[in-house]
Amino acid sequence: MKHQTALSFLRRVASPYAGDQRAYIVPALREFFTMKDFPLEALVAPNTTINYAISECLFRRASDFISTSSSFIAASASTDLNITLPISKYLSTPEQNIDIDRSMTLHNKGGSSFIGIGAAASIVARAFVEAPVRDTPIGIIGRGAAGILTFAYLKKMGFRNIAIYEKKHDLGIWAQPNVNRGTKNNPRTLNFNGDPALAQAAGDGTKDGIHVKNFLDLVSTNNIPGFHEAEKRVISVIEPGQLNHKIHFDDGTRSFPILINAAGTGKPRSYYDSTRMAYDGHSSGPSQAVRWQQAELSRDDMQGKRFLIVGLGNSAIEMIAQLNEGRRKGINVDYRVATHYPRDSIYNPETTVSSRGRPFRIFRDLSAPDLTGFQGDLDRSRYDYYRALTEDRIIYDVRGWNVVGHGASFECQKGKRQNYSYDRLYVLTGYEQSEAQLEQWGITSKVEDGKHVPQYEYDGEFVTRYGNRHKGYFGIGALMDAPHNRNAVVIPGMMFRLPDLAFSVIMRAIEWNIEQKKLT
Ligand SMILES: Cc1cc2nc3c(=O)[nH]c(=O)nc-3n(C[C@H](O)[C@H](O)[C@H](O)COP(=O)(O)OP(=O)(O)OC[C@H]3O[C@@H](n4cnc5c(N)ncnc54)[C@H](O)[C@@H]3O)c2cc1C
Repeated sequence: MKHQTALSFLRRVASPYAGDQRAYIVPALREFFTMKDFPLEALVAPNTTINYAISECLFRRASDFISTSSSFIAASASTDLNITLPISKYLSTPEQNIDIDRSMTLHNKGGSSFIGIGAAASIVARAFVEAPVRDTPIGIIGRGAAGILTFAYLKKMGFRNIAIYEKKHDLGIWAQPNVNRGTKNNPRTLNFNGDPALAQAAGDGTKDGIHVKNFLDLVSTNNIPGFHEAEKRVISVIEPGQLNHKIHFDDGTRSFPILINAAGTGKPRSYYDSTRMAYDGHSSGPSQAVRWQQAELSRDDMQGKRFLIVGLGNSAIEMIAQLNEGRRKGINVDYRVATHYPRDSIYNPETTVSSRGRPFRIFRDLSAPDLTGFQGDLDRSRYDYYRALTEDRIIYDVRGWNVVGHGASFECQKGKRQNYSYDRLYVLTGYEQSEAQLEQWGITSKVEDGKHVPQYEYDGEFVTRYGNRHKGYFGIGALMDAPHNRNAVVIPGMMFRLPDLAFSVIMRAIEWNIEQKKLT
C-alpha cells in the first residue's frame, strides 16, 4: 500500500491498527534517512505546511530536511522503505522507551543540539500546521517550565486554540524565592525556539537561579497572551478517554481531544524510603524538618547553630555551600550531611562503584547523561563536596534513622550507630506526585525504585492500566520523573521530549479532525 501524501501516511500511523508500530516508525525513519544518505533535493513533493510540521518533528533540526522531504517519507513509509522494525509490538515498556531514546540520540549525535540520551540543548519549532488541524482544542495543566515550553512550542507550530490552567504560581517552582535565589545547574547553554538563550551554569557559586526565572518569564510573555493576568484554576479530577478528556474545576468541567498534563514537581517524598534511608520514627516524620532548600541563610540563621541535612543531592549542596561560606567568614556553625551512599562511593564520587549488589555514583555523569544527579561537574559544588568530606561531615552508608527531640540517631552499615544533635533539620530527599493524586488525574502508576511512576509511552502519551493508550492524553516535565527517564525533570529533558510530543499531538489532532469529519 502506497501513501502519497504525508497526511495519508499519518492517517495510517495514527490509525488504531497501526498504533503499536507508531513509536518505532519515528526513530526507524530517522535512522533510515541517515543510512541511505539521500540527497535532500531528490525528495520532491508538494510543500504543505503539515508536511513541513511532520518533517520538523521527525528530524528535529531544520538543516536535516527540506520542506518537501516528508512526502517522500509518506510515499514510501511502509513497504517501500523496507524498514525492519526492531520488534513486532510496541508495549511502551521502559526498556523499549530507552531504546527509542537511544535511537533518536544516535541519529542526532552529530548535531550540537543534543546533550545526550534524554536531553537536548536546542530545539526550534519552525514548522506550521494548517487549518483545521491548528484549531484543535488543546488543554495544558500547569504553567511551570513544562507547561510554558509546551504552550510556546505548539503555538509556534500554528496551534491556536490552547487553554492553559494554573492553580497557584505562574512559572511553577521557579516563582519560589528559595529556588530562584539559588543556583541553576544546566551544564550547557539552552536554546529554545529562537527566544534568548538560557546561559549555562556559571558553576562558580554565583546565585544564577534568577536566569531560569527570567528565561521562563520571557518565553511566557513572548508566547502566552495575557500570561500574568490569566485566570487561576485548580484541576481536581481528570477523566481521560479516547481523544476526549474531561477535566473538572471547582465550578465546572471542560473536555479536550488533546490534554497535556504538566502539573509538575508535587510534594516532598515520604520519609519512609526503604530504597535509601528509611526513617524509623513517628509516622508524620520529625516535626521541625524543613523540606525545601533555603537559598539565603543569614549570619543570624547560622551563628552558633548545628545543621543536619538529610540527603546528598543538589538541594543539599545548595545548603552546604552556604554553611562552608559562613565558616570561611568566621561564623561559628557546625553541620553534618547524612546519606545512604556507601563509603566507597563517598570517597570516589566521580566513578560508579558497586555495593550491596547495586551501582552507586554520586556526581552526575554528563556522558550518560544524568542531569539530575549531584552537580559535581560544577567547580564550586565539587569544592564544597570535598571540603565537607575532608572535614568528616558526611555520615554515609545510613540504612535507617530516627529523631528524638533535637537528637538524630543513624543506623549505619554493620550495625554501627552515629548520633548528632542539631538546631535545624533539612530533609532534602526529592519530590513526587502521590499515587492518589495521579489516580485522580486518571494516570496509572507503578512503584519503581520506591516511587510512584506514571506509565507512559516514549512521547509522553499515558497508558491505561490494561496497557492501552489514552489517545491524546500526554504528560511532560517533572510529573514524568521515572528511573528510565530521569531527565524528564529538568529543562533539557523537557526539550528532548517536546518534538516527539508535538509530533504525536499533530497526529492525534489529525485523527480527531478526521473523526469529526472536518478533514477527509
Ligand atoms: C530546588 C530545585 C532546583 C532545580 N534546579 C534546576 C536547574 O537549575 N535546572 C533545571 O533544568 N531544572 C532544575 N530543577 C528541576 C525542576 O523540576 C525544573 O526546572 C522545572 O521547574 C519543572 O517544571 P514543571 O513545569 O515540570 O513543574 P513545576 O515547576 O512544579 O510546575 C507545575 C505547575 O503546575 C501547577 N499545578 C499543579 N497541579 C495543578 C492542578 N491540579 N491544577 C492546575 N495547576 C496545577 C503548579 O501550581 C505549578 O505551577 C530544580 C528543581 C528543584 C526542586
